[in-house]
Amino acid sequence: MNLQETLKHYFGYDSLRSGQQELIDGILAGRDVLGIMPTGAGKSLCYQLPALLMGAAGRGVTIVISPLISLMVDQVKALNQAGVHAAYINSTLTEGQIRKALEYAGQGRYTLMYVTPERLGTAQFLDFAGKASLAMVTVDEAHCISQWGQDFRPSYLEIADFIDKLPVRPVVSAFTATATDIVRRDIVQNLRLESPVTIVTGFDRPNLFFKVVNRKGGRETDNSVLNYVKRHEGESGIIYCATKKNVEKVHELLVAHGISAGRYHAGLSMEERKRSQEDFTYDRLSVMVATNAFGMGIDKSNVRYVLHYNMPQSLEYYYQEAGRAGRDGEEAECVLFFSKQDIMINKRLLEHKVSSANAGIDDDELRANDQRKLNQMIRYCETDQCLRQYILRYFGDESPCTCDKCSNCVVTEEETEQSYITDKRAVKKMAVMADLTDEGMELFELLRAGRLELARKQNVPPFIICSDKTLKDMCIKLPRNSEDMKNVYGMGVQKTESYGETFAEIIDEFCLAHTEYVESMKAEALDSDNPGDLGTQGVESEKQRRKEKTVRKKEFYIDPNMLDDVEIVDECIVSELANRINELNQKQGITGMKKLTAAFINGLLQQNGYIEELDMDDGSKTKRVTSKGAEIGIREEERKAKFGRRYYAITHSRESQKVIITLLKEYFFTGYGEGIVE
Ligand code: ADP
Repeated sequence: MNLQETLKHYFGYDSLRSGQQELIDGILAGRDVLGIMPTGAGKSLCYQLPALLMGAAGRGVTIVISPLISLMVDQVKALNQAGVHAAYINSTLTEGQIRKALEYAGQGRYTLMYVTPERLGTAQFLDFAGKASLAMVTVDEAHCISQWGQDFRPSYLEIADFIDKLPVRPVVSAFTATATDIVRRDIVQNLRLESPVTIVTGFDRPNLFFKVVNRKGGRETDNSVLNYVKRHEGESGIIYCATKKNVEKVHELLVAHGISAGRYHAGLSMEERKRSQEDFTYDRLSVMVATNAFGMGIDKSNVRYVLHYNMPQSLEYYYQEAGRAGRDGEEAECVLFFSKQDIMINKRLLEHKVSSANAGIDDDELRANDQRKLNQMIRYCETDQCLRQYILRYFGDESPCTCDKCSNCVVTEEETEQSYITDKRAVKKMAVMADLTDEGMELFELLRAGRLELARKQNVPPFIICSDKTLKDMCIKLPRNSEDMKNVYGMGVQKTESYGETFAEIIDEFCLAHTEYVESMKAEALDSDNPGDLGTQGVESEKQRRKEKTVRKKEFYIDPNMLDDVEIVDECIVSELANRINELNQKQGITGMKKLTAAFINGLLQQNGYIEELDMDDGSKTKRVTSKGAEIGIREEERKAKFGRRYYAITHSRESQKVIITLLKEYFFTGYGEGIVE
C-alpha cells in the first residue's frame, strides 16, 4: 500500500492536513523532523503513518516516547481499533508482560511501541534496543524537555543519550503543541536533532470560540458557570479552577443541581482521580471540575467546552487547557470567567511555587519570567481587541485583526445571560449536531447509543470506537453497506469491518421510518457540486449561514450629553473613570457594545500631550505625565513592581477627570464616535 492507501485503510481519511505531508515526507526521506502544531491538528498521524510504511518495508519498529501512561494506553487502544499492531511498556505491566512485549517487539510483531522516558535507561530496554531494528524514535510532547515550558520532565533530558547508544541511529521525530522560540531551541539542542525538517503550522484552532466574561467572583461566577453548564446539558465539558477549594465548591454546586460532574485535584487519592478521569473519558460523567493537575493525560476528543472558573497563570497554560476542547475538529467553546480576585490568587500561587530542579537557571530569573507571563494573561482578560489575535500574537503568529469567533468580535450569550436563566427552550443543541435537522439529531442519538454499547463491550472509551464527527457524517451520508461505510469520515477498513454492520443496521431501521429525511439528504447530495462530499458541503453552507447570523459587537459609543452625569471624585485611576462611564450606558440598558477602556482614554491623553509613553531600561514601556499633564492635575508616583521593575502609577485629580470628560465629548460630538480606532 502506498501512503494514500495506508491513510484510507487504517484511518479512514482521504487527505493529509497542512503540515502533515511535509513531516511525513521528511521522515520517509530519512530526515529528523520537528512538528509544532496545535492540539487536534493531527500530530499522531505524522509519525503513525510513516511508522506503518516503514514497518511494512521491513525497517523495524518505531519507539514512541510519551510522558503519561494514560495517554499511551489510549493511543495504543485507538491504534489497535484501527487494526495497527501497537503495544506499550510501562509500570502497570508485570515483569512477565514486559518481557513478552519486548520479545514480540524484537520479532517485529509491532509497528509502534510506546514507552515512558524513564524506561529508556533500564538495562532491559537498552538490551532490547541494541538488538532490535528500530525505524524511528518519536518524542511526543517534546516540550517536556525544556524547563521553560510548564511540563518539564528531567528524564526527557536522557533521551539523546539513549539514541547515542543505539548501534544505528534511527530517524528521530519530535512533536509538540506548545513551543515558544526558546522551547523550540531547547528541543533541537537537548534531543540533538540533526538539521530537522521543522514545520510550524501556526497555533490557530479555527473551531474554538474564545470568550472572556467579567464577573465579580464568588456567587456571581458560580451562577454563570452553573447556567452555562445547564445550557449545554448532554455535552462534555471541563471546568478548570485555580485551587482545590474552588474545585470542591464548584463540584458541589453542580452536583446539587443534578449535573453529572466529577472532580480531579492533587488532594484526592490516586484511585479516586483515576476513577474520575475514567468516568469522564467513558462519558459516564459529562462535566469534570479540576485543577490543572487534570492535564496531559486526557485525550478525549469530544470535549465541547472548557470553562475557566479562575484565570490561569499564563497564556501557555490557558491555551493548553482551553485547547482540550474540540480535538475532533468540531465547534467548541473556551470561556474564561475573569474576576479581579484572580490576580491576587495567582500572585499568591506564584509566591508559593516551589522551584523545580533547574540546571543553571537562576530562581529570580524564573520568577520574573512567571510574573511577565501572568501580566500578559491579565492583559488578555482586559483587552478589547480580538482575543484570537491576542493569543496568536503571543505565540508569534500573525493573524487578521478580527476573527468573528471571540467575545470581543461578536456579542455572546453570556452578555445576555439573564434571559436564558429561566428560558428552558434556550438549552442549546449540542454544538456538534448544530448542522443537523431534528430528524438528523434523532439518528445521531441512536448512533451514539449504539456506539456506547459497542464501547462497553470492547471496554474502551466511546470516542475510540469513532468520533462524533464520524457519527454526524453517517447522519448525512446514510451508509447502509460496507462500501458506503468506508466513505464515511474516519471509518477505515478495520473499523468498517468491526462496527460497520452495527451502525448500518441502526441507519437502515431509521431510514425505513423516515423516508422524508432520506429524500432530503439525497436532494442535498444532488444540490452539491461534489456529490461524493455532500457531508462537508452541507456543513459548510450551514456554517456560513450561522456566521452571517452572528452579530458583530458595536464600537463603544456614548451620547455626549450623558457625559455630564459622570461622577467626578477626588482622586481615581483612569480605569475607574472608564468604569463609571460604562455604567451610565449600562443603566440605559445599552448592550451589545464594546466597553470604553482605560487604553482608549490614555490614547486621547497622549494625543493631546498630557501623558507620554517612554521606554524603560528593561525594555518595557511606561506612561509618564508631561508638564502639560501635571498642570491639569494628573499625578504620578514611582513604584516598584514585585520583581524590581519600575513603573509609574498615574492618578487623576478632579480637574484632570473633567478634562478627560471634555476630550470624550469632543470626540463623540465630532461624529468620530462611530468607531474608536486605537
Ligand atoms: P494532536 O496530537 O495534534 O493533538 P491528534 O493526532 O490527536 O492531534 O489528531 C486529532 C484528530 O484529528 C484525531 O481524531 C485524528 O484522527 C484526526 N486527524 C488527524 N489527521 C487527520 C486527517 N488528515 N484527516 C482527518 N482527520 C485527521
